[in-house]
Amino acid sequence: MSPAEPQTASQAPDPVAHIGAAIFRRLGVDGVYARTALYEDLVERLAAFITRQRDPRAEVLRFPPVMSRQQLEKSGYLKSFPNLLGCVCALHGSEAEIRAAADSHETGGDWTKSLAAADLVLSPAACYPLYPLVASRGGLPRGGLLFDVSADCFRREPSQSLNRLQSFRMREYVRIGSPQEITEFRDQWMGRAEQLAQMLQLPCTMDVANDPFFGRVGQVMAVSQRQQSLKFELLIPYYPNAVPTACMSFNYHREHFGTVWGITDAAGEAAHTGCVAFGMDRLAVALFCIHGVDVSRWPGPVRQALGF
Ligand code: 5GP
Ligand code: ZN
Repeated sequence: MSPAEPQTASQAPDPVAHIGAAIFRRLGVDGVYARTALYEDLVERLAAFITRQRDPRAEVLRFPPVMSRQQLEKSGYLKSFPNLLGCVCALHGSEAEIRAAADSHETGGDWTKSLAAADLVLSPAACYPLYPLVASRGGLPRGGLLFDVSADCFRREPSQSLNRLQSFRMREYVRIGSPQEITEFRDQWMGRAEQLAQMLQLPCTMDVANDPFFGRVGQVMAVSQRQQSLKFELLIPYYPNAVPTACMSFNYHREHFGTVWGITDAAGEAAHTGCVAFGMDRLAVALFCIHGVDVSRWPGPVRQALGF
């Protein structure tokens, strides 16, 4: 298992190769791992650390790893990231049809040819299910809304790198309101995130970023997103001189979700939205890469911040 993005085809031995062995167990598919007790304990401490930063006005919602396919389609995901989406498929039909499809496997046939898409997709980010839920409640209250959400997310990007999982945990604070409310929320969190990284003694930089929009049209979308500074990322190098890994993102969606779902403010205008996403697995891996796998030897202030 190599740690960060591959640097060159013929790179020197991986400086943090031993980390993967201590925190993950292979499950036969790249980017999908069993997590050891050592690792899960840290993820839980990290989650508690993030909870301690929560605005008491935030409403907490925990989403399952799957969401409505129709809702994700309506969100525009297929325009932007069709290559990353995982869709739930199942065997439908009569008992005889399902039996025949399943049994074809025993005789070397391809049972997956009988699959048909179900009404579910694997959630690609934690905040997608929130917007239709908020829309169903009617207009926004004055001052907008704030949420704390999380989900196990899936993106179809098989990789042996420790920072590129197909199945990973995402925690988000999501703000819904006026453009000014979203900008304030995002600016505040960008400052806060750097302080939190400092408390955890994680070297980091903040930079403008773009989502990996699909295809040639996607390149245009990426340029536009950068030009408008709609996305920033907190980047952490897993080891000295490594290509840094985006461990948190700070996103301003403008009125996209407000318009798609008909979320309106008191004046009937489409609400603006923004989110701050914590990549729980990327942050946890960063901590192990930087401070080592023996948590008893981590710096005192880091241990204290994480409640060890
Ligand atoms: P975004 O929606 O900004 O792409 O993702 C939000 C956060 O999820 C990222 O900042 C990152 O921390 C985490 N994330 C995104 N893709 C991956 C991935 O492939 N593996 C892991 N472990 N985390 C990811
Ligand atoms: Zn989000």
